[in-house]
Amino acid sequence: MSLSQLAKSISESPTLKLNETAALLRDKGEPVIHLGGGEPKSKAPIDAIVSCAALLSTGDVKYTPADGIPALKKAVIRYTEEHYGRVAAAENVIASSGAKQSIMVLLHAILDPKQEVIFPVPYWVSYPEMVKLAGGVPVPVAARNGGFEPSVEEIAENVGIYTKAIIINSPNNPSGAVYSDEFIAGVVELCEKRDLYLIMDDTYNRLIFENRKPTNVYDFSHALSLDSSKLVVINCVSKMYAMTGFRVGWAVGNKQVVRAMTNIQSQQTSGPAAPSQWAAVGALNGVQSSVESLRLTLENNRNVMLKRLGAFSGVRVVKPGGTFYCFPDFSAYEEDSQKLCHLLLDKVRVVTVPGRDFGMEGHLRMSFCGTVKEITEGIERIKWVLDPDAPNELYLGDRKLVRDWR
Ligand code: PMP
Repeated sequence: MSLSQLAKSISESPTLKLNETAALLRDKGEPVIHLGGGEPKSKAPIDAIVSCAALLSTGDVKYTPADGIPALKKAVIRYTEEHYGRVAAAENVIASSGAKQSIMVLLHAILDPKQEVIFPVPYWVSYPEMVKLAGGVPVPVAARNGGFEPSVEEIAENVGIYTKAIIINSPNNPSGAVYSDEFIAGVVELCEKRDLYLIMDDTYNRLIFENRKPTNVYDFSHALSLDSSKLVVINCVSKMYAMTGFRVGWAVGNKQVVRAMTNIQSQQTSGPAAPSQWAAVGALNGVQSSVESLRLTLENNRNVMLKRLGAFSGVRVVKPGGTFYCFPDFSAYEEDSQKLCHLLLDKVRVVTVPGRDFGMEGHLRMSFCGTVKEITEGIERIKWVLDPDAPNELYLGDRKLVRDWR
């Protein structure tokens, strides 16, 4: 079959593929523990459901403006004022089918062929593929010290005549790292000096721990208004409100870029589905307690995961400051993260995501968005596979496993 060069250059989302694999194994009755997931277990807020159901009950579900219904834009404007202290106009806001589409149409709106987009390593798996889809060249920048936050100088060294944008995601998927204020401030300054777009992916902005305040990137900007700035802030209801399946995200940026994004989106999908937009309106305008209770649950889960991993000699782990991901270094056991991921799935039915997909070999991304039982049992099983001192046998329910390797 003949496929385009572009199609051949884009790889499947490894995280979505692992979700599929886990679901298939579960359907077969396998005792899978999914530590590879990217969505909270909790239900969508009731205000989201009521608002969505109100539209559905009319049966009048029609096209919406391509950049979102006015009620959603209003809710985003209010959200931006409350959480970022910035006054946006309706023309500064576009709602999309998830943060993913907002980023995608933004890249399409700003990139000419071969222009470069910089982002720190480790990075969300989709950034390189999305940049390529938009005709650009991804430029991942790793910290020379092997850490999760490169220096501003290391980012700056990669800025050249082809650089068009920098993407920053903090708290970060997959490391859970909350970048320092110095780093964010430095990147904002760099972008303003070099006239680059800064795409601030705030998907996990409020899911941070130890009572830290979410970072407000605008605090570091010298721009006088949204319209004189190339800073575009991305958000969504997916993670904070546990609404991944509704597919609603948004971008706030200068009017010109938002208009270009809207034109592109209008030819692509005509915008997010109307019921989902009303659900997002309900979530944003409704009672906010679900965000805090999710945050507290995740903080507890993180502590459980850290404690369990801490008792695992050889595994190096950095405490995640936010998100629901931990990114431990397993290279003492196995350098090849893909091989390790397959070994764990094959032997003990534990799903993790290889660090290689996030640009960092030797690590595994492990999610703590499930239950405490899943976390403890998952890590117990991993330990059984890797620890040479572990007993020879392990029971998964009533199934007896016998170590037949090493
Ligand atoms: N950015 C990051 C860093 C993410 O982790 C994700 C989802 N995994 C997204 C964007 C996309 O979010 P959405 O589901 O709203 O498209």
